[in-house]
Amino acid sequence: MSVRVRFAPSPTGFVHIGSLRTALYNFLYAKKMQGNYVLRVEDTDRTRLVEGALEGMLRAMDWASVNHDEGVVLEDGKVAQIGEFGPYIQSERLEIYSSYINTLLDKGDAYHCFCTKERLERVREEQKQAGLDPKYDGHCRELSLEELQDKLDRGENHVIRMKLPENKNISFDDVVRGKVSIHTSDMDDQVLIKADGFPTYHFAVVVDDHLMNITHVIRGEEWLTSTPKHVLLYKMFGWEAPTFVHLPNILNSERKKLSKRQGDVAVEDFKNKGYLPEALVNYIALVGWSPEDNKEIFSMDELIEAFSLERVSKSGGVFDTAKLNWVNSHY
Ligand code: GLU
Ligand code: ZN
Repeated sequence: MSVRVRFAPSPTGFVHIGSLRTALYNFLYAKKMQGNYVLRVEDTDRTRLVEGALEGMLRAMDWASVNHDEGVVLEDGKVAQIGEFGPYIQSERLEIYSSYINTLLDKGDAYHCFCTKERLERVREEQKQAGLDPKYDGHCRELSLEELQDKLDRGENHVIRMKLPENKNISFDDVVRGKVSIHTSDMDDQVLIKADGFPTYHFAVVVDDHLMNITHVIRGEEWLTSTPKHVLLYKMFGWEAPTFVHLPNILNSERKKLSKRQGDVAVEDFKNKGYLPEALVNYIALVGWSPEDNKEIFSMDELIEAFSLERVSKSGGVFDTAKLNWVNSHY
């Protein structure tokens, strides 16, 4: 099967150089394997959307020449979509999610939950007081069909949750991290469809990665703890899960996660300071990945040639402005 990877940004603000690196590694791997690289927009959290963020993201990728083959693009400054697996904007795929959630409801792998915010908060408080890790207590798991129908008829607010299997180990192999396992007793009945009818990230990402034939999920390590939920969803649907590759964080000189407070982290900042896109891409490729030799100056074609997932490092890569300046001076 040919390699298909994706970069799946949420249009919630500026483009962090960590996002540029994630996109770049997806791009490099796709090119190296003569596969396809998809850009999908994950906009199901309606509270976090920022006007113009998507266009900014697409412009940043274009500036850096990290070009995708399929998905959401800018055509004459306007958002358009190309490719046969679309729509590539999640808010335009609600009917698809609704049909797949019905599959899980019918199989008994998901259920409606009518708990109010107040009830959920009360339960959390009680669990905390008792020294337990707060999680959903399964209150709505056993509603009778009549109760359920009655509540739906009355139009009561609800979400749809995943019904975790009891007493199971969920595990998967991550290309960077190796074997990862978690027991279902340490997991929660994750919300899959929210009260506003939109899917959560977890549900949409699994349905879309499957329907878009994604073979490798290459993303930041902040998603590692979400992956068991995804693996479980693949199992429930009877789908084969993709290969997972979780990239280490980009760190500052104190080995803390690089954040806006400490200075430049937006691609835009580097662009405005006059860094060359080739230099930023060259340098960022080396933060968390290393070639077989000690080469430090690479053209995009040389990066493609040298890139491999096996050489992505386990520990975070440190972002060093002096090193970036040195690379920039070679262009
Ligand atoms: N929408 C997620 C983000 O904003 C994507 C995570 C993933 O690649 O699965 O980072
Ligand atoms: Zn409930």
